[in-house]
Amino acid sequence: MHAVEKKVRAFVRVKPTAQFAQDVIKFGPDNKSIDIYIKKDAKKGVVNNKQTDWSFKLDGVLHNTSQELTYETVAKKLVSEALVGYNGTIMCYGQTGAGKTYTMTGATAEYKHRGIIPRAVQQVFKAITRSVDSFITVRISYLEIYNETLCDLLSTMTSSGASDVQMAIVDCPQGVYVKGLSIHSVSDEEDALNLLFEGETNRVIAEHTLNKNSSRSHCIFTIYIQSRFRVLSDVRCINSKINLIDLAGSERLSKTGSEGRVLKEAAYINKSLSFLEQIIIALADPKREHIPFRQSKLTHVLKDSLGGKCNTVLVANICGEALHVEETLSSLRFATRMKWITTEPVINVT
Ligand code: ADP
Repeated sequence: MHAVEKKVRAFVRVKPTAQFAQDVIKFGPDNKSIDIYIKKDAKKGVVNNKQTDWSFKLDGVLHNTSQELTYETVAKKLVSEALVGYNGTIMCYGQTGAGKTYTMTGATAEYKHRGIIPRAVQQVFKAITRSVDSFITVRISYLEIYNETLCDLLSTMTSSGASDVQMAIVDCPQGVYVKGLSIHSVSDEEDALNLLFEGETNRVIAEHTLNKNSSRSHCIFTIYIQSRFRVLSDVRCINSKINLIDLAGSERLSKTGSEGRVLKEAAYINKSLSFLEQIIIALADPKREHIPFRQSKLTHVLKDSLGGKCNTVLVANICGEALHVEETLSSLRFATRMKWITTEPVINVT
């Protein structure tokens, strides 16, 4: 099987707001570029250099875009390819409140507000219903990384219900996996959505009982797909997985203006997101031999997604208000750097 090099695809999604800064943010006519203008005296000192306008080229700008169109644009192809054996990763990056969870999970109030996770689950099960020549099984896990600690959001669904199982990230020839993380078989869309709901509920419970702030953790919902089919008298297996990642808020330490626990959380997030950025820069350098994936839990878990045989999509979520322009610039820089990365997706047949 020939591996074809692919670039990571990066999109920006703008959260709709009544205070949209029309004089600061402008979209290119093709909806593939976004320009940021900051008047010199209006935002004096904010960006630490003399540049006052920036232009970013991306794979798409999602502005006033429905959940359905967002899914079609960023996720549908990746999920179709996962169904034929290619691993896929979609991650949402941006400051707290910019719409990462809305994009990834969606709002529960109305069906049309469903995010990427429930729509991906639906696409997978629709494909299974149509499949005639293979037997497809689906499993789910839901991992949270909080202050460099791995937490199984579905531990309550295991027979022991234990949440204190030691977890560790393990490298093996097939890729990275999390030892101790529970993985659950699901037979239909409803089963899978129940697990999503269970994980979300556990996250909220931990937020109250352990005094955690859920926007300060990285969450990875993984759909594992296995297709078994016959080739003459042999049974072959194709394995793939889709990682759907809601990253912790990327706002800077100074902006959180906090102390104690919140300061500690912000320090961990800044560290893991800046390691992620370092990995991205290192991956784009063809001369670089060692990529330090193991320096944080997040980058270690994402090793396959960034450095490997995987289709990868990033959604940078931004707020359109002038007040947030600094964070917007930083998220757009991150998104354009992601586009430097090349991966080589291959099908995993055994
Ligand atoms: P984050 O996960 O980045 O902290 P959220 O996804 O929680 O941000 O979004 C903050 C609020 O804004 C939520 O109430 C969410 O429903 C709303 N929101 C975000 N993006 C959109 C959007 N594109 N359309 C409608 N509402 C949105």
